[in-house]
Amino acid sequence: MTFVDTDKCDGCGTCVSVCPGNALLINNRLTVSPEKCVSCGVCAKVCPFGAIVLTENAGLTEANRLSGSGLQD
Ligand code: SF4
Ligand code: SF4
Repeated sequence: MTFVDTDKCDGCGTCVSVCPGNALLINNRLTVSPEKCVSCGVCAKVCPFGAIVLTENAGLTEANRLSGSGLQD
């Protein structure tokens, strides 16, 4: 799962542009669509403010990924 610390996020949009699942949306503030997120971690790496955190709950993330997005690799 991906969480955004809205206090740290300045809305630069960098993470939105790199997200492979189009899971991120800026509309006043950044939101994450859990059903689209594939937990790749790219957004957290590119964020200049450390505003994005991925949890370690891999089992839950995998379940959400397969049931929510239909993406299977
Ligand atoms: S972890 Fe990957 S898929 Fe999920 S919001 Fe970040 S860039 Fe998008
Ligand atoms: S890259 Fe970081 S600061 Fe920029 S919009 Fe995404 S979460 Fe916010």
